[in-house]
Amino acid sequence: MARIYNFSAGPSTLPVEALEEAAALLVDYENSGMSLVEMSHRGKQYDAVHNETIALLRDVLQVPEGYHVLLLQGGATLQFGMIPMAFLKPGMSADYVMTGSWAKKAAEDARVVGSVTVPWDGKSCSYTRMPSQQELSLNAEAAYAHICSNETIGGIQWQTMPDTGGAVPLVCDMSSEILSRPLDWGKIDMVYAGAQKNLAPAGMALVIMSERMASMARTDLPAYLRYDLHIKENSLYNTPPTFVIWMTQLTLKWIKKIGGMAEIERRRDEKAGMLYKAIDGSGGYYRCPVDPASRSAMNVVWRLPGEELENQFIKQAQAQGLSGLKGHRSVGGCRASIYNAMPLEGVRALTDFMGTFMKKNG
Ligand code: PMP
Repeated sequence: MARIYNFSAGPSTLPVEALEEAAALLVDYENSGMSLVEMSHRGKQYDAVHNETIALLRDVLQVPEGYHVLLLQGGATLQFGMIPMAFLKPGMSADYVMTGSWAKKAAEDARVVGSVTVPWDGKSCSYTRMPSQQELSLNAEAAYAHICSNETIGGIQWQTMPDTGGAVPLVCDMSSEILSRPLDWGKIDMVYAGAQKNLAPAGMALVIMSERMASMARTDLPAYLRYDLHIKENSLYNTPPTFVIWMTQLTLKWIKKIGGMAEIERRRDEKAGMLYKAIDGSGGYYRCPVDPASRSAMNVVWRLPGEELENQFIKQAQAQGLSGLKGHRSVGGCRASIYNAMPLEGVRALTDFMGTFMKKNG
């Protein structure tokens, strides 16, 4: 088996152990004579996977009692629309902190539904940093305040979650960093994340929501848009994405096996530290445009002295089995997504390559 290092932003690299376990069981799931993905989602065997996945999420993320864990379809993008439809009621306004491409997309969908206020906009600094708590002019009357905790394209991350003061629920898009750090549930009423980075293949959004938030959700909506229905039916209102949920279970088992969130955090810091050190230690050849205090530990972005060099860098890296290093088409440059499943060896191979490339072309 020759697996390369895949630095793609999503879908992205998954734990090999999880892929291997799925492969081994794919055709005949635990002597059932069929694949799990061929089974009824109302059957006993699938039910066990479904419930264990939810239980593992609760365990690994330390989800408090009174919070609901939902496994929905439509990715994070459906949540961009579902959230305002459920919570942005007539006459109300919602706060959207503008930190980059994904925060903007979420706000655009909210504007279709209702009124949006912007407590802070990073436009003047080209979205290269997150705001401080003091810079946020939060609306005390807002239906909720929305943040994107890790901007996948810009490579910036909230180091600590903002405080809305408790009255206004904080809603957080954690698509590109879910399961990379413990969550401060005292500050958060809702998180959501597309599956295809730190959880599983694409095709699902994980949603975790407090009971206080759930109790405010509108119920006069088409069925799939109703959080109350998904909660009541334990994410089995309709056919759930059974394969993605199974893979999520396998990823979570892998996290537990390697030592849980403490080990995930240790590996995260080691990998991100190694990569930023390579950038900072290059005497300006590689340049990270992000404010050091807002650097993402998941999506590391950097530039080279020119676009032509960047293209060569990406092409030559690819030839050496370092794939997916091209920055998002909207910003250019280079980006390495170093999610949980990226091994330290992958980051070492990348930093070694960066050193060699600079020697040759610097
Ligand atoms: N939010 C963030 C932070 C993302 O990175 C992405 C996808 N890259 C999305 C939302 C959209 O997710 P999806 O494709 O699952 O709808």
